[in-house]
Amino acid sequence: MKNVLITGSSRGIGAETARQFAAAGYHVWINYNRSASDAQRLYSELTSQNYCADIIQADVSDSSQVKEMFNKTRGIDVLINNAGIAQSKLFTDLTDDDWNKMIACNLSSAFYCCRAALPHMIRQKWGRIINISSMWGQVGGSCEVHYSAAKAGIIGLTKALAMEEGLSGITVNCIAPGVIRTDMTSHLSEEDFKSLKEETPTGTLGTPEDIARAALFFASDSSSFITGQVLGVNGGFVV
Ligand code: NAP
Repeated sequence: MKNVLITGSSRGIGAETARQFAAAGYHVWINYNRSASDAQRLYSELTSQNYCADIIQADVSDSSQVKEMFNKTRGIDVLINNAGIAQSKLFTDLTDDDWNKMIACNLSSAFYCCRAALPHMIRQKWGRIINISSMWGQVGGSCEVHYSAAKAGIIGLTKALAMEEGLSGITVNCIAPGVIRTDMTSHLSEEDFKSLKEETPTGTLGTPEDIARAALFFASDSSSFITGQVLGVNGGFVV
């Protein structure tokens, strides 16, 4: 049975990804930082269906907590760097703290987790790393410069690491979601969602299920000749 660690899987896209991987027969490590009760609820939901799951608390923006998490989980075969935060603010109003927190949670977290996960993957000559970026990392989002910069960084990390690890049987790919209804987008009004839908070629918004299915594909052997790629799951919003 393969072990998958999904960072930030207490809620939203991460939680749905945990559900789909558990149903597909993986041993799922649910990582959370603050939402202990959501993580516990998800754990109970999965184990009540006889799926294999564990919970692990760690703030993935903290290098030492990531190290400790990987010491406890041991042998992660599939790593999904999903944990993230967002903030909408004028660039000129951004503080050092806003910037540092955004980069730490969305980009440094992926660096810490990849570094900790790789020795096992390299030893066994097989591994899958799936990084969750954003379409705003591909094209830039106004009033989200720090978020866009971190998500663009995720794309660079994906491409470069894919080159370095190709011969070790490890693929590194990236999913760039469009607008997905989760807590992260809950500040948007129904009017905002309506206009975002109208701007999207498919005329729909995305769901956590859409992202989870893409992650399952990148984890599977069907994608073994695909590495260093950015898959936009965005209804055609960014092409
Ligand atoms: P969400 O509903 O706000 O959930 C965020 C998750 O990340 C939570 O489980 C949270 O855990 C976790 N998290 C945040 N900081 C963490 C930290 N330092 N350590 C560990 N876990 C942490 O967000 P979402 O919409 O599911 O987003 C998931 C990913 O998709 C993010 O990387 C986001 O940038 C990306 N994305 C989302 C959208 C969208 O429209 N929703 C679009 C493009 C990309 P706790 O609550 O336990 O702290």
